[in-house]
Amino acid sequence: MAVPVVALVGRPNVGKSTIFNRIINERLSIVEDTPGVTRDRIYARASWLGKEFRLIDTGGIDMSGEPLTVQIKNQAEIAIDEADVIVFIVNGQNGVTKEDEDVAKILYRTKKPIVLAVNKADNPEQRQNIYDFYTLGFGDPNPISGAQGTGIGDLLDEIVHAFPSDAKHEEDESVKFSFIGRPNVGKSSLVNAILGDERVIVSNMEGTTRDAVDTKYHDEKMDKDFTIIDTAGIRKRGKVYENTEKYSVLRALSAIDKSDVVCVVLNAEEGIREQDKRVAGYAHNAGKGVIIVVNKWDALKKDTNTMKDFENQIRTEFQYLAYAPILFTSAVKAQRLDQIPELVSRVYDNRQRRIQSAILNDLLLRATSIAPTPVVNGKRLRIYYMTQVAVQPPTFVVFVNDNELLHFSYERFLINQLRDTFDFEGTPIKILPRKRK
Ligand code: GDP
Ligand code: GDP
Repeated sequence: MAVPVVALVGRPNVGKSTIFNRIINERLSIVEDTPGVTRDRIYARASWLGKEFRLIDTGGIDMSGEPLTVQIKNQAEIAIDEADVIVFIVNGQNGVTKEDEDVAKILYRTKKPIVLAVNKADNPEQRQNIYDFYTLGFGDPNPISGAQGTGIGDLLDEIVHAFPSDAKHEEDESVKFSFIGRPNVGKSSLVNAILGDERVIVSNMEGTTRDAVDTKYHDEKMDKDFTIIDTAGIRKRGKVYENTEKYSVLRALSAIDKSDVVCVVLNAEEGIREQDKRVAGYAHNAGKGVIIVVNKWDALKKDTNTMKDFENQIRTEFQYLAYAPILFTSAVKAQRLDQIPELVSRVYDNRQRRIQSAILNDLLLRATSIAPTPVVNGKRLRIYYMTQVAVQPPTFVVFVNDNELLHFSYERFLINQLRDTFDFEGTPIKILPRKRK
């Protein structure tokens, strides 16, 4: 069930970012000859042979200010913490270097599978250079060329082969949710308050495959199991790299992927920042349920309009999240905390909601009579039929005469009709046009 995580490690300039792009099939990062060039992206979803995984380029987590050797070590530690499979990349044109050995020393500490990739093996002659690397002690080195794309398929075979078997993940019906947000907004205070003595902790799901700590508990009042997914800054205090922005974003993205519902936590005192928007946008695009939690509400001087004003500001800044409920909380004063699991549970149900086709087509008839379908270049959009094809998030296919005619505004109108008629609060809705033959 859980999507495995693959991390690329290795000293600068061995080709991590080039290989990252090869694997995700995009050329997004800037690849230059200078070590430590800024990357656009260090986290992505990818798949091979139908198996999905998440890929991290640890080289992109720069810890500016720290000496290079410290950075390389920290990156290897992050890989050990976060990944199910680690890909150790070296440069075949250099032989084994001191820095390769430093990385290896850290990787010896983990029992997680490690795949050794010898990059820059651009031609048959250079592919002979791999033998030196047996001394690192990670088994057969895989010759690859990130620049030419050779050997990447075989490398991916090895990686996928090393994934932990699904059999180990038992069926888990609990509602998974997370708190994401910048450092200091109150995420851990909220988690601790919710896990307070009322609720029985079922298990700390400590590292079968990774050592993140997700907490499963039973909510007596609702008679329901929940799992709080660990985010950066909640239970990993004290790690050197914990406060780097790239790392905290990475952890947030990974927590979102594991969650059904994401609580985006804002700090009432500080208002809305760019990083809040980026991470919330990811939750939306991933089709997760979203709740906006404005924490530290106690710390604000308030008059009658404060709440309304704050809400308006959120609606303006997060326009794509118009469906997300907003909750004003105080973790310290225990204000409205009970509403969090209740809302999480409701949003979870909404994200699973299934509507029968007959009812959808009644809605469609009504909708098209309220707002006739648009005419574009003399051609009228016709919608013949509507049916729900998926949940999590609810996804609807509409059969039309021409996909091009279903513009954003009419699609939004249909979504609003769905929202007015059924409870889809907190969940995104997707509409897919299909041309009827
Ligand atoms: P990173 O610092 O480990 O992420 O390394 P980069 O991906 O930024 O690559 C460093 C340099 O090595 C760049 O100039 C790349 O073009 C080059 N490079 C990457 N892969 C290969 C390869 O397979 N062969 C050769 N000859 N150069 C490569
Ligand atoms: P995290 O980094 O997001 O996990 O934030 P913490 O939970 O560690 O909280 C950061 C600081 O904000 C701590 O000093 C908390 O006591 C304080 N804090 C957390 N929630 C609230 C709240 O609701 N009101 C006030 N006034 N302070 C809070």
